[in-house]
Amino acid sequence: MKEEEFPQYVREIAEARNAFPDIEVLGGLECEYVPEEESWYREVLLGPSGVQYLIGGFHHYLMNGEWMNSFTQVIDAETIRAYTDFTIRGMATGLFRFLAHPDLFGTRHQGWNADDTAAVRDICQAAVDLHIPLEINANGLRKRPVLDGDILRCQYPLPHFWDIAAEYPVEVLCNSDAHSPNVLWGTNEDALAFAQHYHLNVINETFTI
Ligand SMILES: [Zn+2]
Repeated sequence: MKEEEFPQYVREIAEARNAFPDIEVLGGLECEYVPEEESWYREVLLGPSGVQYLIGGFHHYLMNGEWMNSFTQVIDAETIRAYTDFTIRGMATGLFRFLAHPDLFGTRHQGWNADDTAAVRDICQAAVDLHIPLEINANGLRKRPVLDGDILRCQYPLPHFWDIAAEYPVEVLCNSDAHSPNVLWGTNEDALAFAQHYHLNVINETFTI
């Protein structure tokens, strides 16, 4: 969304709230984390005329002062560590009600090693300590599968990630991440089945903003 589109977005949420008074209508945004803009998130996005909650969706991360792409540039020990540290830093701000697709780095990631395991453990421990739910993102299930070695797998959720996450008391949200209304519930059943397979603590029924 462009910044100039934000007032219209907020207005449409208010209109929906007025049109359907029996339904609690909340406004939210999935956001990047830009460290120097923290007060803007608090005062503008979450301010009185803004939205009610933010979701952390870190499609980019900082490494040595450079913006990197979380889809395509998490490929080795150095980048997985930078992605992890940045993700935890964003979580620790308290700005974000939950963390979207923590396993987004899997899109182009190949194989699995001890650095990857350490990254998952650190993110899960932070989620527990900071009480931030982690999302199983059903949009990743709808995307074109990728080849990882000789295995064709979905871009995310990453089986290795959630297998390790199951060792932690993390709260998990299964979310459609609908980019259009016709997939509002699209593949959420598959995301729930995925979560059940790993015996994860799904909180969809009790989660509140
Ligand atoms: Zn996203």
